[in-house]
Amino acid sequence: MSDCLFCQIIAGKMPATVAYRDEQIIAIRDINPQAPTHILVLPRQHLASVTDAQARDESLLGALLRAAARIAEQEGLQHSGFRLVANTGPDAGQSVGHLHFHLLGGRAMAWPPG
Ligand code: 5GP
Ligand code: ZN
Repeated sequence: MSDCLFCQIIAGKMPATVAYRDEQIIAIRDINPQAPTHILVLPRQHLASVTDAQARDESLLGALLRAAARIAEQEGLQHSGFRLVANTGPDAGQSVGHLHFHLLGGRAMAWPPG
């Protein structure tokens, strides 16, 4: 997926501040943070969104959530709390077509989201 921004970051062709990495996952700090902690948790494998995931990707989806929890702990958010968001499609405002969870924390957040 040479035209995918996050694939380029994962391949090291574009710079990013990496907060976490393992064999399947990379987490980077968002370039335009919306909270004191704003990290994007990405599978190394290109999937356009959660709607693109197949049965074979179930363990990867679980690993993304577990990595997000680990990163939240690493960021000191385990007690104050945090929000995990996967914007999916136009109505949700997804702007990068590579599955990612936003991990947001460090301030109180409103509900419902805008
Ligand atoms: P989405 O709108 O798809 O839910 O989220 C995409 C996120 O990627 C946005 O929060 C945006 O700020 C972030 N983003 C866009 N371009 C870059 C980039 O080049 N580097 C990093 N680290 N984040 C980016
Ligand atoms: Zn990609």
